[in-house]
Amino acid sequence: MMKIKRIIKYFIALACHFTGFNYWRIWHLKKHYILMFHRLEEKQDALNISIPVNYFSLLTKWSSGIGELVSMSTLIDAQNPKVRFCITFDDGFKTVSQVGKVAPGIPYILYLSTAYIDSEKEFWAIELEKIMYESNLTSLNLASFNLNEYDLSSDLKKKHAVSMMNYDVKKLHPADIEAVMKYLRLILAINNNDTEDNCFLKWGEVKEMHDKGMEVGGHTHNHIISSRVSPPEFETDIRISNKVISKHLGFTPKHFAYPNGRKQDISVFSRQILIDEGYLSAVTTIEGANNVNDNPYLLKRFNVSVDRIANPWGYPSKAMFTTMLVNPLRLH
Ligand SMILES: [Zn+2]
Repeated sequence: MMKIKRIIKYFIALACHFTGFNYWRIWHLKKHYILMFHRLEEKQDALNISIPVNYFSLLTKWSSGIGELVSMSTLIDAQNPKVRFCITFDDGFKTVSQVGKVAPGIPYILYLSTAYIDSEKEFWAIELEKIMYESNLTSLNLASFNLNEYDLSSDLKKKHAVSMMNYDVKKLHPADIEAVMKYLRLILAINNNDTEDNCFLKWGEVKEMHDKGMEVGGHTHNHIISSRVSPPEFETDIRISNKVISKHLGFTPKHFAYPNGRKQDISVFSRQILIDEGYLSAVTTIEGANNVNDNPYLLKRFNVSVDRIANPWGYPSKAMFTTMLVNPLRLH
């Protein structure tokens, strides 16, 4: 059933693409398309944040063929409407260092969660995925944390449980998230001193990438979601993040990405704090294209994942890409 749905979607995408409809819409509307990535990896993950390098390389070629591929600073400064693309990476995963090899010379921005760079700290979401896949439990009851009971009895159910847990845990205050993680490590007898697997960049690598032209933006220090914390907590975290970037790279960032970034994750106070701390723009994870004069502190993005770009047989498809940007019939 899923496959049939995918095939129908693909044929509609082909029709919209090859009749020229998608291009006509894109060139007529003259919008800004900000593409969001996290990790460059062949292997897909439960969080759906990895994209293989061949997909990435094609996406940069397609984007620069349709419009102008620009840096975030250029995008923010632009005055005249034009089709522009901007490539963004969130968090600071190690695999982003491949961008220079895969697509040499392209402009892109990396939003860093500074507590994770050059540290043994791991993202709770990544750790959660890892420890759940390693565990032999068939179910897990987290009612004592006001969470649900999760079925882990098969690989498919585990995958579903991991994404449900991720969704539920995200809603908690950072201190409560840490409590849940501590509990999981304890009951699953995980020794979290394994530092070999740290998947984040080191400051030396970030500096080298920045020296070669990559822009660096802020993404908070601890990857905190502004609507889950108080204004002083958010402000303190942003200040630490700016200080750390300034210490290692010699400047404070001008562009920001809201962790998690959905409408309900962005508190009303965050914009003023960002302005006070010197930020000129902020990107969300709200889906869509932007007009040249849109609010620079609420920029929309496209979450580019394999299942949105691949055809039903698993190959990257330009028709799927242009259809994602135009979204005719709300297909995506
Ligand atoms: Zn993030």
